[in-house]
Amino acid sequence: MDRVPLTRAVAEVPWSVNAPERACTRRLGTGYVHHVHELSVCQAIIDTVDQHAAGRRLRRVSLRIGYLRQVVPDSLMFSWEVLTEGTDLEGCELAVEHVPAVVVCSACHAKTTLEWPVLACERCASADVELLSGEEFLIDSMDVVEEVP
Ligand SMILES: [Zn+2]
Repeated sequence: MDRVPLTRAVAEVPWSVNAPERACTRRLGTGYVHHVHELSVCQAIIDTVDQHAAGRRLRRVSLRIGYLRQVVPDSLMFSWEVLTEGTDLEGCELAVEHVPAVVVCSACHAKTTLEWPVLACERCASADVELLSGEEFLIDSMDVVEEVP
């Protein structure tokens, strides 16, 4: 298997009336509205990997998503299945590495992991913190299926 490093930021695409929405309405009725954020994220991922796959079949797409992005894992997986169904990406695994939000505090110098998506020190509650991680939103790599000639 051939792993292609990508490290591309996922730009969220604006939600519009397009093919994914029709596909989801068909599958889910009006329930799809609950997954709009993750659907739009997935569509952006699909657009990016399609471009880089250039016709090759993919086995796995690896993502790195920071806690502050507030992506719901189940919803992301669900959206991925809905949007890839019947496409070249059907059956391709979406591997997600969730990155915790870590801050370092200027007041007490503690390095803490955020329990809530609020930028404040978990020890002394000071808002004077520097974010070390947690804002990532990257397509890390994709695994290409080697075709036997
Ligand atoms: Zn502190």
